[in-house]
Amino acid sequence: MPPLAPIGVRPDRYLPVPESAGAPAVNPATGYRLQELGRGLYMVTDNSYQSMFLVYERGVVVVDAPPGYAKHIRAAIAEVTSLPVTHVIYSHSHKDHIGGVTELGGHPIIIAHEETRRLLARDNDPERPLPTVTFKDRYSLKLGTQRLELSYHGVAHEPGNIFIYAPEQRVLMVIDVIFPGWMPWRRFALAQDVPGYFAQVAEIDRVPFNTLVGGHVSRVGTHDDVRTQLEFMADVKAAAQSALKSTELGKEIDPLDLTNPWAVFDNYIDRVVVQCVNAVSPKWQSRLGGFDVYIWDQCYAMEQSLRID
Ligand SMILES: [Zn+2]
Repeated sequence: MPPLAPIGVRPDRYLPVPESAGAPAVNPATGYRLQELGRGLYMVTDNSYQSMFLVYERGVVVVDAPPGYAKHIRAAIAEVTSLPVTHVIYSHSHKDHIGGVTELGGHPIIIAHEETRRLLARDNDPERPLPTVTFKDRYSLKLGTQRLELSYHGVAHEPGNIFIYAPEQRVLMVIDVIFPGWMPWRRFALAQDVPGYFAQVAEIDRVPFNTLVGGHVSRVGTHDDVRTQLEFMADVKAAAQSALKSTELGKEIDPLDLTNPWAVFDNYIDRVVVQCVNAVSPKWQSRLGGFDVYIWDQCYAMEQSLRID
């Protein structure tokens, strides 16, 4: 067995989180941290979620409002300006990133990808009002002297998840794809298309940003973080590929179970995944926060994707 606790076994302690995964603490008095990312552009975080706002001459554009956290956004905006929120951008449809939008107040224009509108119409959730403006490939939002470029690059995390780029500030926001300093959330952050997710991480690296807002964990990212994640993903892929090659179906199982195909595959996939986890652990377990928490999930997701995609 590998030295890391497998799925379903609770370790006494998880591995320590490396320093590179950390960030400045939130202000204990307010519960959030406000970070200026360039002229008029700010990130608000509780060191678990991240959202962004942009101040222009006549108002404020908010990008994402996680539920129960919109009060932080309102307070953070009030630290900087008394202008009203005129626009909201949804990065994607998931409730954990936009379910607080109605708590922002007012009647802002809501901009999102057309796939996000389709998913939200299906979900019919009063806490996630439908976007009033949608686009297919690109949308340029020019307000006063500020600008945001929205673009769509296909399915990775989920349909409709967009890139939000501030060219002057050289800030890129893409949610639920890059996790600076950390292991991605389980199963490549629940990527609905694993090959699409791999391609999108590489595409993010080609955008000329200085600062990346990923939506989770505690700090913003850089190209170094994107390249670390690319390298990690390539290692997981190579380890799963080699484990698939060297593992035989129907071995190391009671012959009486050979008529149960689910058992045969469960046994086979488990052995592939154990080999994958053991192969990547020595290099990565002290480099990424939460490595031991989700490496099993990543190897399972990789193995499944390599066999069926
Ligand atoms: Zn999401």
